[in-house]
Amino acid sequence: MLFSELAEIFDRIEAEPSRLEMTSILAGFLKNVNSDDIPYVVYLSQGRLHPDFYPMVLGMSDKLVIKAIAATVGMRESKVFDVVVKEGDPGTAAEKLVNDKKQMTLFSDPLTLDRVVKSLITIENAEGKDSQDRKTKILSNMLHDSNPIEARYLCRIVTGRMRVGAGTMTVLDALAEAFASRDDRPEIERAFNITCDLGLIAKTIDEGGIDAIRKIKVRVGNPLKVMLAERLRSIPEVVERLGGKCAMEYKYDGIRVQAHIKKDSVKLYSRRLEDLTPNFPDVALSLREHCNIDEAIVEGECVAVDTETGNMLPFQEVTHRRKKHGISDAIKDYPVRMFMFDMLYADGRDMTSEPYLDRRSSIESNFKISDNIRMTAMKIISSPEEGQKFFDEAIAARCEGIMAKSISKDSIYRAGSRGFLWIKYKKDYQQALVDSFDLAVVGAFYGMGKRAGKYGALLMAAYDQDADRFGTACKLGTGFDDEFLEKLPEMLEPYISQDKPPSVDAQMIPDVWFDPYIVLEVTGAEISISPIHTAAAGYTKDDSGLGIRFPRFTGRVRDDKDPTECTTYSELADIYALQEHDSNGLI
Ligand code: AMP
Repeated sequence: MLFSELAEIFDRIEAEPSRLEMTSILAGFLKNVNSDDIPYVVYLSQGRLHPDFYPMVLGMSDKLVIKAIAATVGMRESKVFDVVVKEGDPGTAAEKLVNDKKQMTLFSDPLTLDRVVKSLITIENAEGKDSQDRKTKILSNMLHDSNPIEARYLCRIVTGRMRVGAGTMTVLDALAEAFASRDDRPEIERAFNITCDLGLIAKTIDEGGIDAIRKIKVRVGNPLKVMLAERLRSIPEVVERLGGKCAMEYKYDGIRVQAHIKKDSVKLYSRRLEDLTPNFPDVALSLREHCNIDEAIVEGECVAVDTETGNMLPFQEVTHRRKKHGISDAIKDYPVRMFMFDMLYADGRDMTSEPYLDRRSSIESNFKISDNIRMTAMKIISSPEEGQKFFDEAIAARCEGIMAKSISKDSIYRAGSRGFLWIKYKKDYQQALVDSFDLAVVGAFYGMGKRAGKYGALLMAAYDQDADRFGTACKLGTGFDDEFLEKLPEMLEPYISQDKPPSVDAQMIPDVWFDPYIVLEVTGAEISISPIHTAAAGYTKDDSGLGIRFPRFTGRVRDDKDPTECTTYSELADIYALQEHDSNGLI
């Protein structure tokens, strides 16, 4: 397949504002792609070469890309740099310069997808002496044989700026449209949620249709999207919602870890599918030692502990384990315990459709419990009073609150979904506003006075699960300390977008736009109908969205959360409804 065919499709999708249209363009194209190419087509549409959890990412610096463009079009690097600054990104600059130099394509070989993939893999793996030169050369060779649109996408792919606006959910829609039907969409999403590999799903459905998708099972080594909890405002509501009887566990305030245990190795994944094994090698080792079967997938929360008193320590302590440098000191200085709460796989057995109590007892029968590998505290609760007592115990044990879990026979593990099979109830809920919000940074405003020249406020967005889009919910300017403000530009730099990102709906225009990636925890005084914010637009009032009043950053960067795990439109609308219900004196 020629790369130009793919580049042309990306170009059409990028120009298309309607998600439905985008889906049908992609579906029409995918139908005609052969099954060896299809994984790369879908990975590249997401700016990747591998599944989301694969650790390597293409990340050539702008400097190297400018060098490659300069070598290709025969211009000085400083001149190319000026074009990049003017055009806003190396991709658009490459497109323009290659277009100006059209004559060079007279002597070129058309680029095939195969060659692009092989070249990109070589760039990704280049290491050591001369690696920078080799990367530049490979890119320059490809640019030499590119048309302007191919050049745009090649430069965006290698610099990690490839966002054509068709996210994972759109690709899954397109796969349903191309190879199955709309009704099969949930089945396709299930298969994706338990494997997190878009290429695998595309190849499977292309070769074997929906029947092959149905046969996809949990596999060790492919992280599953985690199951999430809904929230309710009081213990009696929680118990009632779960049928008067449920399990309650302590809600530990740590880092969620999904452990994939093989015979001779263990890998730990975060909620965001990052590899946490280097951060918790002690936990990985203990899990292998304490697991008495060959292969297993378990989930739990890693919490920092004071080894002298045995007390659990606040969340901030365990975050020392997430840093990239000085990790060996952090391992010594911040001992952790893993509290296991779920089991998803045991020696060939996919356990995601088994009920909660069976999965939990499988942990107990397959793991030896020890000092640092433990079970979450759990109790079967049959009344609100018992629930309240358990909650008080959890708080006394320095936990955030409780996780109530359904014990019905339908209490399966729903990968990637938030539902009422699990309900969280936290200490904060007793305060003014229900819970905190997790919002994605989509824009920044330059500050004034003390904050002049730095970002002074951020535009924050919630997630629309149905449309796979982000809508703004507040402008956040409080709760930042000097240290955080200092490091903000560096943290946000990789996600700068020249224009409003295609997945963002906003009326407020910030000074700088960002692709939704960084997630911050925010509290607020209340939710109100907002004519300016676009989150949950139309949910409670036509033409108005919902905004968070008096937002405040809690100091917590949720780097464990993917932007698609942000507070959703329907959650905002639910909280708004609850709040209105309360203030009308109805509760
Ligand atoms: P939240 O991040 O507030 O949406 O709460 C969900 C998170 O609570 C999960 O992703 C886990 O990291 C964490 N958690 C702590 N204790 C438990 C537990 N016993 N069961 C499930 N999740 C837990």
